[in-house]
Amino acid sequence: MTNAKNPCPICANFDGNIVLVARKNIPTLQNVALSSREKAMDFPTGKLTIIRCAKCSFVWNADFEQDKILYDDGYNNDVTFSNYYVSHLEEMADRIIQSVPPDEDIHFVEIGCGEADFLRLVVERAKGRCVSAIGFDPSFTSEEKLPKGAVVHKTFFGPDQVKLVPDATNVVCSRHTIEHVPDVHSFVSALAAPMTTQARTLFVETPDANWILKNTAFQDFFYEHCSIYTPESMSRILGEYGLSAKTTAVYGGQYMWTEANLLAKTSALESDEFDLKAAQELAETYVDESVRMLNDWSSFIRKRSQKGPVAIWGAASKGVTFTLLMSQIQAPLLGIDCAIDLNEAKQKCFMPITGTPIISPEAAQKMGVATVIIMNPNYIDEIKNMAVSMGWSPEFVALNE
Ligand SMILES: [Zn+2]
Repeated sequence: MTNAKNPCPICANFDGNIVLVARKNIPTLQNVALSSREKAMDFPTGKLTIIRCAKCSFVWNADFEQDKILYDDGYNNDVTFSNYYVSHLEEMADRIIQSVPPDEDIHFVEIGCGEADFLRLVVERAKGRCVSAIGFDPSFTSEEKLPKGAVVHKTFFGPDQVKLVPDATNVVCSRHTIEHVPDVHSFVSALAAPMTTQARTLFVETPDANWILKNTAFQDFFYEHCSIYTPESMSRILGEYGLSAKTTAVYGGQYMWTEANLLAKTSALESDEFDLKAAQELAETYVDESVRMLNDWSSFIRKRSQKGPVAIWGAASKGVTFTLLMSQIQAPLLGIDCAIDLNEAKQKCFMPITGTPIISPEAAQKMGVATVIIMNPNYIDEIKNMAVSMGWSPEFVALNE
C-alpha cells in the first residue's frame, strides 16, 4: 500500500491518505465508440492515481487533467436501453415530485442536465404540477424535445448563473455531474448558492465510493470520474456551505442519493461520527482484494477462452475498464473477444485502447460466444431473459454478483 502525499480536495487532510489505484495509459473517456480499430487504439490516454482521504473518506484522481476531457460526437452515454435503468430514473423523478407538498406547484432546476432527459421525465410524471423547468448544460443540443415552457441554458452553472434561478424554485437537482468535477469546492459552492430558503431542496445523485470498495469493483475507477464521494464526505462538504444532508443508497447501492436543505440557524450541524477505523480498513482491504480479483478473473477468462469466444456485456465505463485491465494481464489473443451492447450507435464500433469490437447480442450468438461476463449486476435478470427469448444459452457470469 502506498501512502499519498497529496492533500484531500475536500478537507485538506494529508495524513494517512492511501493510493487505491495507480494506472497509466487509460482512455480519457470511456463512453466512446470509435469507428475503426486504429482510431480506437490511438485514443488519448491519461493517468489514474486514485487516492482516498483517511479523514473524510473522499476519493479522487490526483492525476486528473480537465483539458484532456473533450466530449464530442463519439461520446455516447445513453443508457436508456435498459428497463432496469428506466425504472431507476422514474423512481428518482417520483422522489423529487413527492418531496413537494401535493398542493404546491413544482419549480424545477437541474444543474448538468445533459440532453434534459431527466428534466422531461420529471415534467411528464408531475402531470401538470411542474410549472417551470430550467436546465443548465453547455453540451445541450435537443431544444426541439423540450416540454413547453422549459428552458435550458447552454452554460456551466457558476456564480453568474445564480440569478437565472427563478424565485419560486423549490427543487434544485444535479445528477451524475459532481463526479466529473475536480474543483470540488467551487462546484459545491455553486450548487449551494441558490439554497437561500428552507423551501428549496437540493438533490444530488452520484456513485458511492464505499460501494466500489466493499464490492472490490475495480472497474468502477476510470478517468471521467475524478471525484468520488461517500455519504460522509458529501455531508461534510455540503455542511461547509450551510446545508444539512441526508443520503440514501439507490440503484442497487452503486449510487447515493442526497437530499439537502438549508441548515436552520438554530441547529448545529451534526458532527460526523462515522467509524473512521472501519472505513480505513475497508480501503486497505480493497487494495489487496482488487489484486486478487483481477487475477481470478484473468485466469477464468483464460480457461473459458478454450471453450469458445468470451464476451463482456456492456461497452460503457465498466466494460471498457475491465477489458483493458484484462488485456494488460494476459496475452491479447487469449482475452475478451468482443463486447455486447444494446446501444445501436455503438454496435460495429470499437472500444478505446483495446480496440475490442462492439456487437449486438444477435451477432454474438451467431459467432458462437460461449461465455458472457455481465459488467453490471443490476442487469443480470434482464440480460438472461433476453438470451432465453433469443434461444441462446451461453454461460453467464457477472461482476460483483
Ligand atoms: Zn478529506
